[in-house]
Amino acid sequence: MAVENLMDKLVAHCKANGFLFQSSEIYGGLNGFWDYGPLGVELKRNIKEAWWKDMCQNHNELVQPAQAPSTYDMVGLDCTIIMHPQVWKCSGHYDLFHDYMVDCRKSKKRYRFDQLRGQWVARDAQRIFVTTMAEPEHEREDISRRALKFFNLRSKDLEKLQFEDRVLTFDKLTAEDRGVVLGPDTDELGTLTDPREFNLMFKTYVGALSGEEGAAFLRPETAQGIFVNFKNVVDSTRIRVPFGVAQVGKSFRNEITPRNFTFRSREFEQMEIEFFCHPGQSSDWYQYWRNRRLQWYKDLGLDGERLKLREHEQDELSHYSCGTADIEYAFPFLPPGEYGELEGIAHRGDFDLRSHSEGKLDPKKRPLEVEMTEEGQPRHRGSGKDLSYRDDLTNERFIPHVIEPSAGADRATLAFLCQAYHEVQSSESGGKFESRVVMRFHPRIAPYKAAVLPLVKKDGMPEIAAEIYGALKKKFNVFYDEKSAIGKRYWRQDKIGTPYCITVDSQTLVDRTVTIRERDSMEQWRISIDEVVAEIEKRIGT
Ligand code: ATP
Repeated sequence: MAVENLMDKLVAHCKANGFLFQSSEIYGGLNGFWDYGPLGVELKRNIKEAWWKDMCQNHNELVQPAQAPSTYDMVGLDCTIIMHPQVWKCSGHYDLFHDYMVDCRKSKKRYRFDQLRGQWVARDAQRIFVTTMAEPEHEREDISRRALKFFNLRSKDLEKLQFEDRVLTFDKLTAEDRGVVLGPDTDELGTLTDPREFNLMFKTYVGALSGEEGAAFLRPETAQGIFVNFKNVVDSTRIRVPFGVAQVGKSFRNEITPRNFTFRSREFEQMEIEFFCHPGQSSDWYQYWRNRRLQWYKDLGLDGERLKLREHEQDELSHYSCGTADIEYAFPFLPPGEYGELEGIAHRGDFDLRSHSEGKLDPKKRPLEVEMTEEGQPRHRGSGKDLSYRDDLTNERFIPHVIEPSAGADRATLAFLCQAYHEVQSSESGGKFESRVVMRFHPRIAPYKAAVLPLVKKDGMPEIAAEIYGALKKKFNVFYDEKSAIGKRYWRQDKIGTPYCITVDSQTLVDRTVTIRERDSMEQWRISIDEVVAEIEKRIGT
C-alpha cells in the first residue's frame, strides 16, 4: 500500500467512523484544531487512563524493583491553563519560545522558516529557487509544476528545465539568494520577507483590563504548573524525594504550520511527569524513565521496529539540560526512514525550581516588565520563595533535579491509530474478495471492549443478549447490535476495533453458552454465560 494512500485512507476512516473530525467543519474548519468523535473520545480517554494508571496510580506494582534505582512515589495535579504571566517569564517561554517565520508579501501567508523547502531550477541563464509546502512525497511534483508555470512552459517541455538534485530548506539559502525565491503561494520572485521571531504562546487578557496589565497566556506546556506547586505538594503530603508529579491537560501553541493530521495541532493534550530526585541519582533516573516510557508504548501495541529512542546531540540540548532523548515513531505520513517525536524525556537539572525561586518579583511592578541591574543586565525575577527540599532523614538540603517525560496524548492517539489500521481481504459469500478495514487496537485502549450480538431477533435471543450486555456494561464500554447478518456485524466491529464479539445463538437456548469471537485471529470458542464478564475482564487486562 502506497504510504500517502495509507494516510489518506486513515484520515477518511477516522472521519467516517467517528474518531476525528475537523473542528468547526461546517464553517470550513479551523487549521490546527481537531475534534474527537464518539469513538475517538473513548480511544483517547483510554490512552490517558492507561498512562495515569501505569505511571501514577500503579507505578510501583508494574515495575520490577531491579529496574528502578529505588522505590518512589507518584501523585497527580490538575493546574489551570492560565497562570501568572511571570511563570512564563521565568520558564523562558516569554523570551525564548519562538519559531522563525517568513511572510509572503503577495499571498499574505506565513511559513515556518525551517519547514519551507525548495529546489534550484534553471532555464538558460535564469536560475530561481522554487519553494513548496507540499507533503514530502509530493514536493518534487509541485516544484516542477510551479517552475513550468513560472517559465511559461507546458508539461511536455520539462526537459528544458535543469533541476538541481537536492531539495533544500529555505534556511539554508544566503540572504542574497532570497531575491530569486518563488514563494509557495505566489507567481512572483522575491516576495518572502526575512525571517522574524514569532512567539508561539497564545495571548489573552484577564478581567476587564484590556491593556498589557491584564495580559496573560494560555499555557504552552503543563509542566510549569507542577514546578510552581512543588512546595505545596511537599508540604501537603508526606511525600519524600524521589517522587514524581503527573498531570494531563490541554496545552496551546500557535504553531505556524500545523500539519500531518493531529500531529502538529494548535490545541493539544499533554501527559507530563516531573520527577524530582537527588542530584546524585539523576542520571540513573534519567536512564530509568527513558526505558520505562519506551516500554509503555510497546506494551500497548506499538511495533518496536517503528519506534526509536533518539538521544539528542550536544548542540540540540537546552543550556541547562544534561541529556534529552526523544521517543520517535515512524508515522506513515513521513518519508521512509524518518521518524516523528512522540515524547521527549529531558534531564532538566535544577533549572526550573531554581529559576522559580531566585530573585524577587516586585508586586508594584507590572509582570513581564524588564527590570535592569546596575550593570545593565535584565534582572531575573522569580517568586523569591525557597523551593529547596530538606531530607528529614539525612537533614541534607538541596534543590532536587528533575527528569521530565513529556508525552502528547494526541500524538500517542495518532500513533495507535496508524498502528491499528489494517486492510484484510475477505471472501464474500459469493466467493468474491473484498478489502475491509480492521482496527487492531490493544484491548486496553479499544473504544469498545466487546459487542453483544443475538444471532436472530427472535426465540428469546435478544432478551438473553440484553442480559449479558447489562452485566458487561457495568464494567466496560460495550456495544449491542442486532441488525443485519452476523458476518456483517462482525465486520462492523472489526472496523472500529472491538476486540471481542459475543454471540447468542440457538445453542445458547439449550445450554446457556455463547460464542466469543476474537477480532484479529477470528478464532471462536464457547463459554458459559456466567463466565463472560470474567473472561472479557481477564483478556482485556486493565
Ligand atoms: P516538536 O519538536 O514536534 O514541535 P517539541 O519538542 O516542541 O515538539 P515538547 O515541547 O517536548 O515538544 O512537548 C512534549 C510533547 O508534546 C511532544 O513530544 C508531543 O508529543 C507533544 N506536542 C508538542 N507540540 C505539539 C503540537 N503542536 N501538537 C500535538 N502535540 C504536540
